Amino acid sequence: MAEQGRDAGDGQGARDVRAVRGRGVPDDVARAWDELVATARRSVADGLVVGTSGNVSVRVGDTVLVTPTGVPYDRLTPDTVVGVDLDGRQVLGSLRPTSELPMHLAVYGATGARAVVHTHAVHATAVSTLVPELPLIHYMSAALGGAVRVAPYATYGTQELAENMLRALADRTACLLQNHGTLTYGATLSEAYDRTAQLEWMCRVWLTASTVPGLTPTLLSREQVAEVEERLRGYGQPG
Ligand SMILES: [Zn+2]
Repeated sequence: MAEQGRDAGDGQGARDVRAVRGRGVPDDVARAWDELVATARRSVADGLVVGTSGNVSVRVGDTVLVTPTGVPYDRLTPDTVVGVDLDGRQVLGSLRPTSELPMHLAVYGATGARAVVHTHAVHATAVSTLVPELPLIHYMSAALGGAVRVAPYATYGTQELAENMLRALADRTACLLQNHGTLTYGATLSEAYDRTAQLEWMCRVWLTASTVPGLTPTLLSREQVAEVEERLRGYGQPG
């Protein structure tokens, strides 16, 4: 109680006490973990993840906070924080990190990503079994860097899958994983999440258009999508 009294008029002191009394993590890490948990729960609420089938990570300095393996998102609390360094050594928490950690670390190692989202979203996973890249059904492909590629299948959690994924991600911020799911990254959790939602939506559009008997969807050319990329660079907001 004495500490609380002393810290009452001192914001910095209050944060220190919270760190000591809480789980001993700095405030920026605690905030990032809260945001990660909110993003993970949103992925379930939005139907992009069923049960424990996805994982989310966010980078704070040289620490990567990541969802633990086998824990439903509604059981994640401030006390379940899991953090690893960029080599995958656990530096925070006692729960084991997601088994897909190699994919997350590969993205942070090869790009400037600050957040990574992996799901088994249904339409995107369906598309991953049909084509080597998502056909250019919509100009929002440009927001992901162009036609989204499908990384060849490899067993989950392996370095091989991480390597296949990195090749598929070249010059893109999203890819599909064959017979598995999606992976996107961004400068923030909300950006990475939004890219997953856009990717799933585009896969749904292509599947929907492709299932009309006797008709084949019109596709955009690479030039048309490249033109949109230029506009996005110039104007920020897609129309
Ligand atoms: Zn997975």
